[in-house]
Amino acid sequence: MSDKSTSSKAPAATANDTPPVSSPLRKIYPIVKYGDPVLEKPGAPVQKFDAELEELAEDMFASMYAAQGVGLAAPQIGKSIRFAVVDVTGGKNPEAKIVLANPEVTHAEGEVREEEGCLSIPGFRGYVVRPQFVTVKAQNVRGEPFEIRGENLLARAFCHEIDHLNGILFLQHLGMLKRDLIKRKIKKLRKQGEW
Ligand SMILES: [Zn+2]
Repeated sequence: MSDKSTSSKAPAATANDTPPVSSPLRKIYPIVKYGDPVLEKPGAPVQKFDAELEELAEDMFASMYAAQGVGLAAPQIGKSIRFAVVDVTGGKNPEAKIVLANPEVTHAEGEVREEEGCLSIPGFRGYVVRPQFVTVKAQNVRGEPFEIRGENLLARAFCHEIDHLNGILFLQHLGMLKRDLIKRKIKKLRKQGEW
């Protein structure tokens, strides 16, 4: 999921800048854009909880922070597995880092209509109704089961990322007119080689 704020342009880098939040040793994955079939197919369950998965989680956090997102699902880096990372603080609070392996929404309550974006559909946003509260059941990076409750933006991020793991994009939650408008604009961008 992309950041809510539209004014969060990164400042131009200067020699005196402090290093970015993410470690330079981390792999920054390019984000797969809308049109790639990997985004529209359900991911396979995560079965191996090993050091490689831990590396992947940290690389996904780094990639997400680099793209100024608050959530990133594995299909968005071309990996069709049920694995996602979420941090609605954008890296400001290390304790807010959430790794979700094989997540499922077990309870949802309330409705909030709010504008939403996606790192795989850059430049486009739309209003999506999501639950105000959700409970998510998942496994952590070591495979241990846990439950977590999210409210408002966190609930939205959980739903958005779990949608990704099911091959669903936020476009599918928009009205037909808005969805077709965005699809047409993307088609045009693609023709111009800008997508
Ligand atoms: Zn997304």
